[in-house]
Amino acid sequence: MNILLLGPQGAGKGTQAARISLEYEVPHVATGDILRAAIAAETELGLRVKPIVEGGGLVPDELMVELIRERLGRSDAREGFILDGFPRTLPQAEALDDMLVEIGRALTIVLAIQVSDDVARERMLGRGRSDDTPETIDRRLALYHQQTEPLFEHYRARGRFVPIHGDRTENEVFAEIQRALEQASEA
Ligand code: AMP
Repeated sequence: MNILLLGPQGAGKGTQAARISLEYEVPHVATGDILRAAIAAETELGLRVKPIVEGGGLVPDELMVELIRERLGRSDAREGFILDGFPRTLPQAEALDDMLVEIGRALTIVLAIQVSDDVARERMLGRGRSDDTPETIDRRLALYHQQTEPLFEHYRARGRFVPIHGDRTENEVFAEIQRALEQASEA
C-alpha cells in the first residue's frame, strides 16, 4: 500500500493518516511533523524552515524532496507508506513520480479529503497550533488552492484519484477511506 493523502490543513489528514497507518501497518510519513520535530530540536533543517513554517509559507521543493527521498529509503517504508502533507506542489509531485519509478513502486491510491474553506478554517482555529493564526490560516488555504489543488488533475490523469467527503465525523470519513482502499487493492 503506497498511499497519498491530499487535503487542506484542517481536513483531518493527520487523524485519518494515523488510523490508516495502524489498520494497514504502513508508516505514517507526515512532513509537517518531521519539520516541527526538526524545529523543536533546532537542527540545521529546523532553523532554516522555522520562519517559513511559522509564517504559513511553503518550504522550498528541493528541501522537501530530499527529506522525502531519505524517509522513503528507510527500511520501514519498504512495504508501503502513507504520505501526509507531501506533495504540495507540482514539482514535488513530479519528483515523487520519478522517485517511485527509480525504486520500482507505484502509488496504490491518491485520496483527497475535501472540506470547504470555512470548515477548514474553523477546525484549524480549534486545534490551537502555534502556526494557526487567522493570517497564516488564510495564507495556507490560498497556497493550497494555488499550489496543491492542481495535483488533483495530475493524479486524475494517472488514475487512482479518489475524492473523499471530509465534512463528516471522523468515523464516517474513515469508513469511506477504507472502502476506497479495499477497491484499490482489488483492482
Ligand atoms: P502540516 O503539518 O502538513 O500542516 O505542515 C505544517 C507546515 O510545514 C506547512 O504549513 C508548511 O510550512 C510546511 N510543510 C509541510 N509539508 C510541506 C511540503 N510538502 N512542502 C512545503 N512545505 C511543507
